[in-house]
Amino acid sequence: MKTNDNIRSLEVRVGNVVIGGDNPIVVQTMCNTHTADIEASVAQCRRLSDAGAQMIRLTVPSMSDVEALGEIKRRLREMGIDTPLVADVHFSSDIAIAAAKVVEKVRINPGNFHRDHQKAREQFASLVKVCKEYGTAIRIGLNHGSLGERITNMYGNTPLAMKEAVMEWLEMCAENEFENVVVSLKASNTYIMTEAYRLLYKQMQENGKVYPLHLGVTEAGNGDAGRIKSAVGISALLSEGIGDTVRVSLTEDPENEIPVAEYLSDRYGRRLHSCMVGLSIEGKIAIASYHAPSKERLLMDFSCDFGKRLLDKEIDQVLLKGFYIDENGSQVMLDGSEYASYLEDELMQAARRRFYRPEYVACPGCGRTMYNLESTFNEVKRRTSHLKGMVIAVMGCIVNGPGEMADADWGYVGEGNGKVSIYKGKTPVLRHVPETEAIDKLLQLIEQDK
Ligand code: SF4
Repeated sequence: MKTNDNIRSLEVRVGNVVIGGDNPIVVQTMCNTHTADIEASVAQCRRLSDAGAQMIRLTVPSMSDVEALGEIKRRLREMGIDTPLVADVHFSSDIAIAAAKVVEKVRINPGNFHRDHQKAREQFASLVKVCKEYGTAIRIGLNHGSLGERITNMYGNTPLAMKEAVMEWLEMCAENEFENVVVSLKASNTYIMTEAYRLLYKQMQENGKVYPLHLGVTEAGNGDAGRIKSAVGISALLSEGIGDTVRVSLTEDPENEIPVAEYLSDRYGRRLHSCMVGLSIEGKIAIASYHAPSKERLLMDFSCDFGKRLLDKEIDQVLLKGFYIDENGSQVMLDGSEYASYLEDELMQAARRRFYRPEYVACPGCGRTMYNLESTFNEVKRRTSHLKGMVIAVMGCIVNGPGEMADADWGYVGEGNGKVSIYKGKTPVLRHVPETEAIDKLLQLIEQDK
């Protein structure tokens, strides 16, 4: 929890939701429909709102998507759904300005707003002017993978560079007397992500003005691994009183993100407590015992109880004991079980303490995704599971995917029209590969490179 010494974050109004201050942690998510497909987007927004999303983001790659966004909003409001909408804009300030007239919040990525810093300043001032007029909030949404060249030349590809990049944009907000701003500094690497947020939070505290923070581990993947990785990064910060809104990015149906985000919001809003019943620490080894009402709850409690301690090297290992209740109401004992050792390994990997399998970076997909990301990602995972320690990225689009892959060794990037680009690091090594052959080609290239 925030201590009395800490300055509270500013309150930012986004439609009928307030982020920051002493308000509860806001749960948000993002559509993965094509925004131009108005029917599908409205239907998904409705499902997400029913599932508990307090804010919904949609991708806006072109001006025609701004029009679609307006229509989506109109239809939702007509249905009585007043969940604030957020436009996700990359590259074009004109689109950001147009979207700011339509929805309650606009997310911009400073890494790709404009290459020329002076131009970026001018464009941002124009965006702020419109946001002031329409009461629209802005998220400065920086990602580790898409830091600009100017900043990385000065600070390297580091958490410090992320903090410095955001501070420049917050200074621009101050110059333009604009405070309706939320900030994020996401990374797929939980260590980089937590360090970047901590540095920024400390700097904002020192400066005497704390903007609300949107937390997320980007490209976290799916399944248990995606949930554990998200829980480790986000809970480490929330437990320190850092963070005001949460998005859990999973390469799955976005509805699946909501219960994970709600758990985090409830737990750090002190509405939910861990079901750990015993803990002993010998040297740097923790032994924890749980009486968990479900497998899902065990996974989240265990990740939040020990993710930060592993990440910060307070402990080197954790052993899981006790039981969880399965779907038939039976107790499943954990002591020495395969499931306990699987969760222990996954937590070590999410906290970047030991790699027992490949590390996957996979975007959640959005309206820019041009193929079945979820099934492709699962197939890539199945075929590459032997490549322990290697970082493999599976990205939904060629526009942002390569920039967002961060430190991946290999990347599988959807181009659209059934074609894929394969990257080695930041370099495309094969382009226009038919989807049906792309995983084979990726494996061949990895083999040849050994
Ligand atoms: S990388 Fe993935 S989430 Fe990001 S814009 Fe492309 S498809 Fe959307």
